[in-house]
Amino acid sequence: MKTIGIIVPCYNEAAVLPLFYKETSAVMDALADTYQTEFIFVDDGSADDTLRKITELALTDARVKYISFSRNFGKEAAMLAGMEYAVKHDFICIIDADLQHSPEIIPQMLSYVDRQGYDVAASRRADREGEAKFKSFLSGGFYKVINRISETKISDSAQDFRVMKKDVVKAILAMPEHNRFSKGIFSWVGFNVKWISHENRERAAGETKWSLTGLLKYAIDGILGFTFAPLKLTFWCAGLSLLAAVVSLLYGVIKNIAVADYELLLPLILAAVFSLGALILLCIGILGEYLARTYTEVKNRPKYIIAKTNTNVTYFTSEGE
Ligand code: UDP
Ligand code: MG
Repeated sequence: MKTIGIIVPCYNEAAVLPLFYKETSAVMDALADTYQTEFIFVDDGSADDTLRKITELALTDARVKYISFSRNFGKEAAMLAGMEYAVKHDFICIIDADLQHSPEIIPQMLSYVDRQGYDVAASRRADREGEAKFKSFLSGGFYKVINRISETKISDSAQDFRVMKKDVVKAILAMPEHNRFSKGIFSWVGFNVKWISHENRERAAGETKWSLTGLLKYAIDGILGFTFAPLKLTFWCAGLSLLAAVVSLLYGVIKNIAVADYELLLPLILAAVFSLGALILLCIGILGEYLARTYTEVKNRPKYIIAKTNTNVTYFTSEGE
């Protein structure tokens, strides 16, 4: 019998978890003759009753495993912990806890990877309905920018909801970075992907964890993690200032500096000094962002810390004890 691990990152999802479990386990029960299911709930440092809800489920259903973090490490870390544990399965599914991802299509995804030669079956959202206008405008702009400047193509509509073969997950786990941007990572590893159109459902209960600043940070992580294009801005700035210098020099020679009215020129000179300062600081800032990320990678701290689990994972990183 083939096995599938279903990874569910959960952060303050107590309100929706019982419903999620009910719907998803019903879907998986129908497949019980062919696939043996294990649920891996990753409690990402929830402040509500999430962990209690999961442990209650684990009492009545031996298929339910949980990994609970010592604090909130973010969805990326939660998915990573789930994959590190679930890579023993033939197939690995990642799905949100809030029922925005319909568990009903898991069987279809499974059939694509198990019987139709695909390595991954991933959901792609058909529309951005149910999402704030401003948010979809911003994310639309972000994907345009990142796809222009990055070699890794990142789809606007791709979701984390997917079923993958074990080998794909092994490839993902071979990417050791701390600044994880899963949309980039999923795309970077490649493989044969079947895209499934999926209507965005309303959240069944609870609320979204994404704030505007959170999304912005995520977008910057995505850009800095998958392209060095911003660094090239330095060269553009250098070229621009060089050009300005040559133009001013020529202007000075032609007009003959001697007759120049310095009082009139002063604001211009100030403007030139300040804009040059701004460009230099911008370039240093970009450099700093890459350096800071390099620093986090070098420090090599654990990507998450497990405080409680009913799995055999005894230590908080994949490296072992
Ligand atoms: N999530 C998580 N850690 C976080 C934020 C979110 O594990 O720090 C989980 C959350 O519980 C949910 C999924 O990631 O299962 C998607 O989060 P959410 O629904 O808030 O995002 P949205 O669907 O609004 O993009
Ligand atoms: Mg959601």
